[in-house]
Amino acid sequence: MATESFVLNVAEVIEETADARSVVFEVPSELQQTFAYTPGQFLTVAVPSEQTGLAARCYSLSSAPHSGRHQITVKRTVDGYASNWICDNLKAGDTLRVLPPSGIFTPKDVDADFLLFAGGSGITPVMSIARTALEKGTGKVVLFYANEHESAVIFGRQLAELVEEYADRFTVVHWLVSLQGLPSEKQLGLFASYFTSYTAFVCGPAPYMKAVTNALKELGFPRERRHQEKFVSLGGNPFGDVEEVLAAQKELADADDADDEQDTQPAEPAFAGPVAVEVELDGQQYSFDDWRGEEVLLEFLESKGVDAPFSCREGQCSACACLVLEGEVRLLHNEVLDEDDLGEGIRLVCQAKPVSEKLRISYNG
Ligand SMILES: Cc1cc2nc3c(=O)[nH]c(=O)nc-3n(C[C@H](O)[C@H](O)[C@H](O)COP(=O)(O)OP(=O)(O)OC[C@H]3O[C@@H](n4cnc5c(N)ncnc54)[C@H](O)[C@@H]3O)c2cc1C
Repeated sequence: MATESFVLNVAEVIEETADARSVVFEVPSELQQTFAYTPGQFLTVAVPSEQTGLAARCYSLSSAPHSGRHQITVKRTVDGYASNWICDNLKAGDTLRVLPPSGIFTPKDVDADFLLFAGGSGITPVMSIARTALEKGTGKVVLFYANEHESAVIFGRQLAELVEEYADRFTVVHWLVSLQGLPSEKQLGLFASYFTSYTAFVCGPAPYMKAVTNALKELGFPRERRHQEKFVSLGGNPFGDVEEVLAAQKELADADDADDEQDTQPAEPAFAGPVAVEVELDGQQYSFDDWRGEEVLLEFLESKGVDAPFSCREGQCSACACLVLEGEVRLLHNEVLDEDDLGEGIRLVCQAKPVSEKLRISYNG
C-alpha cells in the first residue's frame, strides 16, 4: 500500500552554499492542513530516476511552521544520487511528488531552553527548531554548529541576524573542523556542561552525533531532554503506486528473477494467538481483538481503517514511532531507534510483529 503523495510546485530554489540548495514548495490552500508541520519534521520527496522510476528521500524542513513556508535544504552527498540531482536540476516552476510532513524530532514545549548541536546539513531541522523557539517561544537557545570550512556553513547569515535580534536569548558557537579538528567528546561535554537543564537536539554526521550523545549521557541528560535525528537514505519506496516505478521495477524484476530466490529470507513464524490491540491516536481510542501477526501492526491498523502515521515502511525513518504502554512487539528491522528509545518503550509500528497477547500503544508521545 502506498502513502498518499501530492505533486507540489517548486516556488524557488536558493543556493545556500556551493553544495547546498534550499527548495521552497508552493502548498495550495486546500493542502495547507495536510502539510501542516511542527519544527524538526521532514518531507519525503520522490526524485525522478531513469533507473528505478524514482528515489525516495527524506529532507527536513528548514523553515519554521509559523512562517507559512515549506522549505527543505539539501546538501550534496559525495556520489549521492538524489541530493546531487536536486542540486543540479531542480528549478522554480518544476514539480516534485512529496509525502506530507512526519517525524518525531520535534520539541514538545517551544518555551523550553534549547541546547542544539548541528553538523553540516544537520542544521536543517535544527534551524527550524531554533527559529521557532526564538520567534514563538520564550527560552534561551544555544547552538553548537560544526562544519568543515567557513564556506560550508549553511544559514550563516540568517543565524547572525537571529543572534543580533535575540542577543539576550540566542548564542551560536561555530566550530570549523579545518581549523579546530573534529570536536572531541570531552570538548563537547565541557560545552554542554553549562547547559545541563536545557533540552538537547542533535543532528549531524554519525560520529559527531555519537560523540555529542555520549557527552550528554555522561552529563546525565535524561532521555526526554535528549533528541537525535539520523540522516539515512530510504532503501524502499513509499511512493509505491507511481506508475513509472512499477514499470521500472518490472524491468528490474525480470532481470533479477534468478537472484530473487537466493535473497528471500525464510518467513518468521506468525504469532499463534489473536492479539488484543488498543491504540491511542490523535485523541481517539481504538480497540481490536484479532491481530494475528500475519502482517505488521501498521498494515493491521490500516486494514481496520485507522489513519496511522508512517512514511518509509522500512524501519528507516521514525514517522510511525509509537510508545508501547502495555505488552510488547518485536521489530523486524530498525535503523532509527537507539537503545534508550527502545528502553523507553518506543517502537516502529511499520516493523512491529506481536509477542504478547495484549498490546496497548500510544502515538501521543
Ligand atoms: C529524517 C531524515 C531527514 C533528512 N534530512 C536531510 C536534510 O535536511 N538535508 C539533507 O541534505 N539530507 C537529509 N537527509 C538525508 C537524505 O535523505 C539522503 O540520505 C541524502 O540526501 C543522500 O541521498 P543521495 O541519494 O544523494 O545519496 P545516496 O543515498 O548515498 O545515493 C546512493 C544511492 O542511490 C542509489 N542510486 C544511484 N543512482 C541511482 C539512480 N540513477 N536512480 C535511483 N537510485 C540511484 C544507489 O543505489 C544508492 O543506494 C535526511 C534523512 C532522513 C532520514
